[in-house]
Amino acid sequence: AAAAAGFRLRDHGALPFAAEALVLSPGIPHRLPAPHPAAQRAAEAGAPILSDAELLFQAVRAAGSRARFAGITGTNGKSTTTALLAHMLAGAGVPVASGGNLGTAALALPLLGDDGVYVLEMSSYMLERLATLRFGAAAMLNISPDHLDRHGDMAGYLAAKMAIFDRQTGDDVAVLGAGLPATGLAAAVVRFDAERPLDDAPGLPGLHNALNAAAATAMGRALGLDEAAIGRGIATFPGLPHRQQRVGAWRGVAFINDSKATNADAAERAMLCYDRFAWIAGGIAKAGGIESLAPLFGRIAHAYLIGRDAPLFAATLAANGVAHTVCGTLEAAVPLAARAGAPVVLLSPACASFDQFSGFEARGDRFAALVRALGPASASEEAA
Ligand code: ADP
Repeated sequence: AAAAAGFRLRDHGALPFAAEALVLSPGIPHRLPAPHPAAQRAAEAGAPILSDAELLFQAVRAAGSRARFAGITGTNGKSTTTALLAHMLAGAGVPVASGGNLGTAALALPLLGDDGVYVLEMSSYMLERLATLRFGAAAMLNISPDHLDRHGDMAGYLAAKMAIFDRQTGDDVAVLGAGLPATGLAAAVVRFDAERPLDDAPGLPGLHNALNAAAATAMGRALGLDEAAIGRGIATFPGLPHRQQRVGAWRGVAFINDSKATNADAAERAMLCYDRFAWIAGGIAKAGGIESLAPLFGRIAHAYLIGRDAPLFAATLAANGVAHTVCGTLEAAVPLAARAGAPVVLLSPACASFDQFSGFEARGDRFAALVRALGPASASEEAA
């Protein structure tokens, strides 16, 4: 049964606000850019605005469980670090439930006993809406400009993320990426960093994933895992779908699904991992397009462009002398890219997908299906 079984739902459409608290979905603002009317009414009534993670914590404690809570936030790498830490704990036989901003919503997680650990991915929106949740181990991975419409400015965004350390005591651990401020934290501060990609972790390619693994390692130690369990977790982590996920091979060509890369920064992380590749990109571009990727253009054997902003990307590539074809669709791009003569075909679109797909997952799934459709070689080579 879900930990939160017993919560009752009522329609609060009519004034006045008569509840103890307001639980708002993360996507609904209570301050910036403008408070939702329900949030305004709650604020006027002096009622706290909470996230579902706070309710989970209250429900677990009310059930008498002392299960520990681990929280992970940051601009990038949250999902990977959360999934990796949960994988480490599960492999070590620790009862674990993980979710939050990723996967299972907090209130759908099971009730764990005293020996259990909840591993929660926390968005800045969720962190703004906590009252009593205290993380025994909390990690803040990194910060770069994002969601400033909701947080006003970088200072506001940083403050929202640093709230993951609120209510911690000297018994708790705060894990921070290099360069992040740790002043005023009550918990024991642990720093993590990484200098090079991991050798023996196929599910964690690139320097960025070495950083995520370092953060998960610090969190694992804080939660009592030994080095062997941590190492096993890193070596056997299968990776998350749509993040540099190898989805098949065909005639010696490996196909990498990085559909989650919806901006140039994310695409850059993936491009850094392959010396030479056929690149499938395009969709709805972000401000700046792919100009920032120019230092990596030399790695592109040929680019196959899809979606609304294919012409924009084509112009940038043409200006830099990169061979490219405007294909329009993934259906057209995959068979061409497969025959480009490059060892890797990388779907890392640097674009949102909504012009052609319901989301990055659907785009990645289509890519994988098209790779399978190339022929049986993909299946047999993958099994080998
Ligand atoms: P999040 O949940 O924070 O969006 P993910 O783990 O889903 O993060 O990773 C999304 C993308 O962000 C990855 O495909 C990669 O391009 C990039 N990324 C992942 N980890 C990091 C990191 N530690 N630093 C910078 N970029 C990263």
